[in-house]
Amino acid sequence: MPIADKMVKMVESASMIRKMFEEGIRMREKFGADNVYDFSLGNPDVPPPAAVKEVLLNLINNETTSHGYMPNPGYPHVRQAVADHLNKEYNVGLTSDLIVMTVGAAGALNDILRALMNPGEDILTPAPYFVGYNQYAYVAGANLKTVASFPDFHLDLDAIEKAITADTRVLLINSPNNPTGVVYTREELLALGKILDGASEKFGKRIYLISDEPYRKIVYGVEVPAMFDVYPHTIVLSSYSKELSLAGERIGYLAVHPKAEDAAIIAAAAGVTNTMMYVNAPALFQQVVGQLQGVTVDIEIYRKRRDIFSDGLHAAGYEFDIPDGAFYLFPKSPIADDIKFVGILKDNHILAVPGIAFGGPGHFRLSYAVPDKTISDSLEGFKRAIDSVK
Ligand code: PLP
Repeated sequence: MPIADKMVKMVESASMIRKMFEEGIRMREKFGADNVYDFSLGNPDVPPPAAVKEVLLNLINNETTSHGYMPNPGYPHVRQAVADHLNKEYNVGLTSDLIVMTVGAAGALNDILRALMNPGEDILTPAPYFVGYNQYAYVAGANLKTVASFPDFHLDLDAIEKAITADTRVLLINSPNNPTGVVYTREELLALGKILDGASEKFGKRIYLISDEPYRKIVYGVEVPAMFDVYPHTIVLSSYSKELSLAGERIGYLAVHPKAEDAAIIAAAAGVTNTMMYVNAPALFQQVVGQLQGVTVDIEIYRKRRDIFSDGLHAAGYEFDIPDGAFYLFPKSPIADDIKFVGILKDNHILAVPGIAFGGPGHFRLSYAVPDKTISDSLEGFKRAIDSVK
């Protein structure tokens, strides 16, 4: 093999996703775009807020807008704007040197994992989990270890405590969660913080909590607890991919809690790993988001879709709890084999992702980042699919 042995698997799983994407194109060509219901991608379709265009146009027309290199962790004024905004939310005294502007949340994860992980150390994450974590662990030379959650997808704290070993360096959580939409409660997170403190003491090394929060603003009537309150040795990372619908512009950040052990060293190292891979986050969009702290897309659009979709699927007989956040549903597959059931959905022109891809077999993921009409028009097909296996 001309490529690294470990890469072979990575390329295979990437080509599985590409195949699904290509299948969607093929089906749209064959059956017509209106007759294919594609819920496979978490690509925000809600337009960015009008303020994005205004700020962008002003920047483009302004002679002083910078398009050059800047300090690798990002423009100082943008990092300050992010720190000021996060201080309003968390009040932990973040300074701009603890912020790194990144190439989306994916860039932030790559930066921080490569900064923290020694070769062969473990990243522990609750399953189901975002598929990208396998790749980021690979790039960091680390092992991704997973620990099952409860059937309602909340954290199984006993299982997490048992799964932590002397090799665990990082606990990686994602709430609101992709693929389940679950939002962890403050109580469970506080208990998690205590477990991490206890385990750090037990193994004589600091275990860091990484909180991957690109869906933080996409919640329906619940608050996402402040992770910085839960455990000081926390790195929060997020992006503007979902909250401003700027996924393709690749802009995000990471923030290290000022009281995290070795906070300054970790933030500085993440700035260096940033340099190794991307040099810096995109200049223009750093300047855009610097002016748009706290602005979000219209969340009501997603809430309405979640409700129409959940009502329709429940009426058809699918089982799942209505999630409080993100834009995904993760119903139980009516048959044990979720890959087979996703095939049956495909026969009904519906594209979904099998739960097994997220470490959640026996389920399937539906993204409702699609027009309302796609949801309502698909419901008959969902009913046919479940009826066909009863
Ligand atoms: N983390 C989670 C849980 C995600 O769902 C995604 C993207 O879908 C990412 C990270 C990567 O986000 P970004 O596009 O901002 O890099």
